[in-house]
Amino acid sequence: MSRTEIKKGKCPECNGSQIYSNKSDALRGERSTIAISSFKWFRLESYVCLDCGFFAEFIKDEDLKDPKKIEKVKSNWQRVV
Ligand SMILES: [Zn+2]
Repeated sequence: MSRTEIKKGKCPECNGSQIYSNKSDALRGERSTIAISSFKWFRLESYVCLDCGFFAEFIKDEDLKDPKKIEKVKSNWQRVV
């Protein structure tokens, strides 16, 4: 099962359904962003499974669809080949 299944409320490790996300949480800690460049960040959302403790973080969908941020990644980061 893909790790992204957890976004739909299903744990990819134990198949549990006690999934919680901080998606809509306005108060965020330092782990909640990744710097892309000096002035741009990806925002993260976290998911936990309360059945087995599986934990996953993803870049927010809106940020993955933001062409300006994607351009920055392509020009500042190194592609893994
Ligand atoms: Zn689980």
